[in-house]
Amino acid sequence: MVLDGKVPEGPIEQKWDRHRSRLKLINPANKRKYRILVVGSGLAGASAAASLAELGYAVDCFFFQDSPRRAHSIAAQGGINAAKNYPNDGDSIWRLFHDTVKGGDYRAREANVYRLAQVSNAIIDQCVAQGVPFAREYGGTLENRSFGGAQVSRTFYARGQTGQQLLLGAYSALLRQVAAGRVRLHRRCEMLDLVVVEGRARGIVTRDLITGKFERHAGDAVVLGTGGYGNVFYLSTNAKGCNVTAIWRAYRRGAFFANPCFTQIHPTCIPVTGDHQSKLTLMSESLRNDGRVWVPKRKGDTRPPNRIPEEERDYFLERRYPAFGNLVPRDVASRAAKAVCDEGRGVGPGGLGVYLDFADALERLGRPVIEERYGNLFDMYKKITAEDPYGTPMRIYPASHYTMGGLWVDYNLMSNLPGLFVIGEANFSDHGANRLGASALMQGLADGYFVLPYTIGDYLATAGKSGIDTDHAEFVAAEEQVRGRIARLLGIRGERSPDSFHKQLGRLLWNECGMSRNEAGLRRALEEIPRIRDEFWRNLRVPGTADTLNQTLEKASRVADFLEFAELMVRDALHREESCGGHFREEHQTEDGEAKRDDERFAYVAAWEFRGDGAAPELHKEPLRFDHVKPEQRSYK
Ligand SMILES: Cc1cc2nc3c(=O)[nH]c(=O)nc-3n(C[C@H](O)[C@H](O)[C@H](O)COP(=O)(O)OP(=O)(O)OC[C@H]3O[C@@H](n4cnc5c(N)ncnc54)[C@H](O)[C@@H]3O)c2cc1C
Repeated sequence: MVLDGKVPEGPIEQKWDRHRSRLKLINPANKRKYRILVVGSGLAGASAAASLAELGYAVDCFFFQDSPRRAHSIAAQGGINAAKNYPNDGDSIWRLFHDTVKGGDYRAREANVYRLAQVSNAIIDQCVAQGVPFAREYGGTLENRSFGGAQVSRTFYARGQTGQQLLLGAYSALLRQVAAGRVRLHRRCEMLDLVVVEGRARGIVTRDLITGKFERHAGDAVVLGTGGYGNVFYLSTNAKGCNVTAIWRAYRRGAFFANPCFTQIHPTCIPVTGDHQSKLTLMSESLRNDGRVWVPKRKGDTRPPNRIPEEERDYFLERRYPAFGNLVPRDVASRAAKAVCDEGRGVGPGGLGVYLDFADALERLGRPVIEERYGNLFDMYKKITAEDPYGTPMRIYPASHYTMGGLWVDYNLMSNLPGLFVIGEANFSDHGANRLGASALMQGLADGYFVLPYTIGDYLATAGKSGIDTDHAEFVAAEEQVRGRIARLLGIRGERSPDSFHKQLGRLLWNECGMSRNEAGLRRALEEIPRIRDEFWRNLRVPGTADTLNQTLEKASRVADFLEFAELMVRDALHREESCGGHFREEHQTEDGEAKRDDERFAYVAAWEFRGDGAAPELHKEPLRFDHVKPEQRSYK
């Protein structure tokens, strides 16, 4: 099947405005008759739930944390992009669009990216109106800093806590609607299945994580804002709870999964120190504004960094990419760091680290300025490593951070299943094969505040009220399956914890389907994953019961889905015989080791359809057209 992204006709600058003015509307008095189920209370889910309720719809919002404020979005550090051009350095909607398409290595849909750049400015206005305390210049105007893949400063930020402040803004908008009676919150409530009736998404099945109660919820549309699946690698910068379950269950019900192998490995994370770790910590990309990345020129040089003279240091990003220097995009910086470590020039225990050095910046700007810009990040680094980054360079290494893959959606953010909308990191939409820094917050809020509220109305106006309630046979069957699965997990009574399987899977994926992959390794992984899965279902141990808080059970259910999903991810990586963005196939590289795309054969979105357990998934393609940003070999030199 050739997939249609339903991109509207007309000049790219006018597509969204024209489309919006043609979308069907629902009378304000009728909106409250429609019930919308929003799963997720991160930036995407909270902004969508608040905006839909503000419009008058009846909204239910589900999340597995105790408060919407604890969604993973709260961890976002560095900032959010917008094309305001406040620094007067040449930015524009066009340039943000261009940088994003290029940064994504020409694997995103142009029209979506243009719309994203267009609405970016409205997001900043919206958040300022909510009271988000963005950093300001001395004169009071909003300040910007730079992020990778751009030669302008367009990133708005609130110290190193941008996600937290944005989420507090969205949360207050959401709670206003809760108080107004238009949003019902379902805390500590996990969606474990999607209910599809006659090809349309009609509801979900959930489990209350405190009482274990199973519930069926019917709605006129379902919105998934359930975040990314970076934790498939076990070690990642994501919050520990992030998982693939909601979108994987939707995939098993017929939603197409797009580009599952497009995962982002972020260059600036605190290196792994041993087997005991359960997660990794990001050091925001914003640090590359002032920090310089280097390793010793000589292999095996174990001198402390401050004893290595200037002429014996290799500032490898500045050397290889003089135009962008330390601010090359993430995929480029990560691969370059891996390359110098593979050469034996890495630093720290195990040689898997490079320095991020602030000595020059401290001298040029003084400690108070650096403290003001990055103080909380420096404190965090010190707490974790017991090293003081004001006196000695940070050590960083790439880690799993973000997932560009996700459920396939059209221009209206609707999946191929009518009535199922997917927003934020959970969809595949705007970032192609590599997301630029500070663009995830932009996309999540664009989807939730400014795109979905329009497009969902068109669907509801066309489809009408669902009329299906939770006694429908499909709801009953879905709940039975969920109950059966939970019972099966508890009934194995084997020897190994969910974490031990998750670690094993993560290590395999990191080695064979991580920063760089090759055919032999991917084939090895495809053989190994079913073996791990098989042992999981024979030898898992989940103590306790299902009718009470049982976090091992929660983990087990999520790991079970990761074990299925991993196979699709590897299959996707194997089929894509090209290197692009964060997805580097060793067989396909230029002479100087850069990613080599194959636009002739692979300029498409790979959307996979579930065909049943044990059957190969079917690949559908959405061809990508580039009418405005001509694909070329990406160069940051
Ligand atoms: C450390 C770190 C720093 C980052 N910094 C930046 C940055 O500076 N700038 C930037 O642009 N991006 C940044 N990112 C990326 C960005 O934070 C995320 O992409 C973004 O916040 C995702 O938002 P979301 O709303 O899509 O998902 P999330 O914030 O992950 O929210 C997911 C929601 O879905 C709910 N949920 C999930 N599954 C289920 C289920 N089965 N049932 C019920 N509820 C469910 C969760 O409870 C949660 O409420 C950073 C990421 C990390 C890891």
